[in-house]
Amino acid sequence: MISQNIKIVRSRIEKAASRAGRRTGDITLVSVTKSVKTPQIEEAIAEGITDIGENYIQDAFLKFKEIGNKVRWHLIGHLQTNKIKDALRIFDLIHSVDSFRLAEEISKRAGFVGGSKDILIEVRTSEEASKYGVLPDETLGLVEKISALPNIKVTGLMTMAPLVDNPEMARPYFKKLRQLSEAITERKIENVDMRYLSMGMTQDFEVAIEEGANIVRIGRAIFEE
Ligand SMILES: *Cc1c(COP(=O)(O)O)cnc(C)c1O
Repeated sequence: MISQNIKIVRSRIEKAASRAGRRTGDITLVSVTKSVKTPQIEEAIAEGITDIGENYIQDAFLKFKEIGNKVRWHLIGHLQTNKIKDALRIFDLIHSVDSFRLAEEISKRAGFVGGSKDILIEVRTSEEASKYGVLPDETLGLVEKISALPNIKVTGLMTMAPLVDNPEMARPYFKKLRQLSEAITERKIENVDMRYLSMGMTQDFEVAIEEGANIVRIGRAIFEE
């Protein structure tokens, strides 16, 4: 089932990319595993999944202990400052930074272990979709402030669209994130590289790809019957 689902998702990604004149190879499929256990994740990995997305540190920690770093780990859920230490140990990319205080703590902690962490800024493009995320108008200011911190690098933006029946209704939110990313790129801020646009889930990933997503985060379409 998982194998078949992954094939279908990949082919849908390919079709959406081709409609948008983009290369499938430039789009990373993050398999979101918040609702599944290690054996299913291993099954997905056997099908060529290279990137895993988790929402909660505790869950991720247990799975990480079993699976290890043969895959890249993405934190897509809210991060509390008291969980940063574990988060740094597990995750290659943190998608959910939405405050300077959080970035400052990540910077400090990453410095302790002599590393640097790539992060995305979570933007609240819609009031309904999430209670987390920085407002679009405040994103540039936050990115500028974070860019001055050591041991942390902003490498893009992430958003969630509201739950919609018709994926087309998610398009304005994705467009907004892309335009924001382009506006920040134009500023040529040192230590900032707007490389990633993390947007699109089971309900709307094709529209997100048409709007420029290069990381899609997909759970249900892979793991549900
Ligand atoms: C759960 C989740 C996803 C995946 O959602 P599906 O509908 O299962 O594809 C993507 N992003 C975030 C932030 C999530 O919490």
